[in-house]
Amino acid sequence: MKQIAIDGPAGAGKSTIAKQLSAELGYVYIDTGAMYRTIALYCLKNKADLENEEQISALCSEAAIDIRYIDGVQHMFLAEDDVSDAIRTEEVSQAASTVSKYPKVRTRLVEMQRELASQYNVVMDGRDIGTHVLPDASLKIYLTASVEVRAERRYKEYLEKGLPCDLEEMKKDIAQRDHNDMTREHSPLKKAEDAIEVDTSHMTIPEVVEKIRGLIK
Ligand code: C5P
Repeated sequence: MKQIAIDGPAGAGKSTIAKQLSAELGYVYIDTGAMYRTIALYCLKNKADLENEEQISALCSEAAIDIRYIDGVQHMFLAEDDVSDAIRTEEVSQAASTVSKYPKVRTRLVEMQRELASQYNVVMDGRDIGTHVLPDASLKIYLTASVEVRAERRYKEYLEKGLPCDLEEMKKDIAQRDHNDMTREHSPLKKAEDAIEVDTSHMTIPEVVEKIRGLIK
């Protein structure tokens, strides 16, 4: 099976790029952040104390989390509830960044991710794909952009969707998540030694896709 790993901080454009590439290549796109978000949503629904590792680990083991592909699009389920939209709030983003530091949570999700990668050709995006989940991926990309650019992109996305948003809040949220993700003990976000870094701060989406297409060739 073929594997392309795309890692990087929140808002660098991973999912947009990974979706386009997977469609072009006929690979399955796997958004691993959505899996951490789903566990986080389950913990929030159960009014858990996110700093209580034991409680979160227990909830993670019992959560009936499922990933399904509907018309080629990844959907996340908690039991029979499609939570694909519900996991996209700022509250869930921050909660995901907190619960993702626990080894029990990571182990369960990494197992699901590797299982998928053993069945399909995949473009997988996340934080630890190149360093930990798929160390033998044929291509590893580390996508970055400045905090300012990433926050502005998020802001525009929210405006277009008519969602309430505040640019300064988004900058703070992104910087906080970068800090959490880069400094946690287990599988922190970092560039794999053999990953190719692409700074998208001054690039358009088609330019980034073109660049990675070139790298695939
Ligand atoms: O990619 P996304 O922003 O949806 O991820 C939400 C959170 O899930 C991240 O901030 C990170 O803490 C966690 N995550 C992770 N490992 C991954 C993917 C996401 O720890 N492979």
